[in-house]
Amino acid sequence: MKGKFPLEKFSRLRTPFYYYDADLLRQTLRTVNSLLARHPNFVMHYAVKANANPKILRMISMAGLGADCVSGGEIQAAVDAGFPARSIVFAGVGKSDWEIDLALEKDIFCFNVESIPELEVINELAEAKGKQARVCLRINPDVGAHTHAKITTGLAENKFGIALSDMEKVIDEAIRLSHIDFIGLHFHIGSQILDMADFESLCNRINDIQRRLSLNHIRVENINVGGGLGVSYTHPDKEPIPDFAAYFNTYAHHLHLLPGQMLHFELGRAIVAQSGSLISRVLYVKQGTHKQFCILDAGMTDLIRPALYQAYHKIENISSDDSIMATYDVVGPVCESSDVFGKATDLSTCHRGDFVAIRSAGAYGEIMASQYNCRPLPKGYLSDEL
Ligand SMILES: *Cc1c(COP(=O)(O)O)cnc(C)c1O
Repeated sequence: MKGKFPLEKFSRLRTPFYYYDADLLRQTLRTVNSLLARHPNFVMHYAVKANANPKILRMISMAGLGADCVSGGEIQAAVDAGFPARSIVFAGVGKSDWEIDLALEKDIFCFNVESIPELEVINELAEAKGKQARVCLRINPDVGAHTHAKITTGLAENKFGIALSDMEKVIDEAIRLSHIDFIGLHFHIGSQILDMADFESLCNRINDIQRRLSLNHIRVENINVGGGLGVSYTHPDKEPIPDFAAYFNTYAHHLHLLPGQMLHFELGRAIVAQSGSLISRVLYVKQGTHKQFCILDAGMTDLIRPALYQAYHKIENISSDDSIMATYDVVGPVCESSDVFGKATDLSTCHRGDFVAIRSAGAYGEIMASQYNCRPLPKGYLSDEL
């Protein structure tokens, strides 16, 4: 365990901070690229919202991936990190005018549009600039994913996307508007999905939709199936790289693309989660009435997933090889009862000053940090730069 983390270098840094294993990220990107090479019609856009650390973004842009953005700030961050504007897709239910203007000025690849009012505003703003806006329509496929309720997005009850029953009406409108180029359909069913059957259900639904559209002589050049591939939070060392082969094969086998169609993906978590750990130090070990608390200097402000989604992250005392274990509730210092990283967690006996790693924190970690309690934002370091 000890060998994985450069503790002597850590001792010079103020905790808590994010530590990114650059070699693992590079290996992950190589795996994705070698699989993409077998499918010339597959295009990967990294979902910037998972981690927008400029150094991480640059590594991903250098690997040749495109970017999936959900705000004007993300578009700017992606462009600054070297992603070509023509590799950027822009999603989101509520795009502001300035964000649409920015996307038009940069000439991004396409807008993923979620409603008729949005379509009309983009048409108007594009007309004012004398431009054409390329648009994919985000369709809510009404496909459930076996994941956490707060991270499913593809059910009819969610706020996302255009209902299947409205699809033809919205497509007609997109075709009618003179400054909109309707180029495809977009889907996204949720996040942290490990059961390939969920992606298979999406494929089957898209096949139905394509049949339905072909009856109306509508053909699109692009299908975007979003992201959502999960990672192993329980075994980050056994499964450091997600099963991208199974993921791509599911689409290759079950999705019936028409000749010339491009298939776009928007993975976030699967690309960056396992390369990141939140590193903190033990402040105190406190004996409670019925349990022991291991109190860290990292809190929910640094990594909110456990508090927000009851998400599990593997926790390790990386200062100790002690085979003597103890059971702790591992908590942070923030004034909220939900500031808990793990209940009844077995760790090598903890002492004040020990380094504790919270694993698989490279996605939806650093980027979701807040300054609640006037806490400073955690810094992020790449293994390369220490
Ligand atoms: C969040 C999001 C993604 C990325 O999801 P992951 O689970 O991190 O792969 C992709 N597309 C859209 C539209 C999203 O909202």
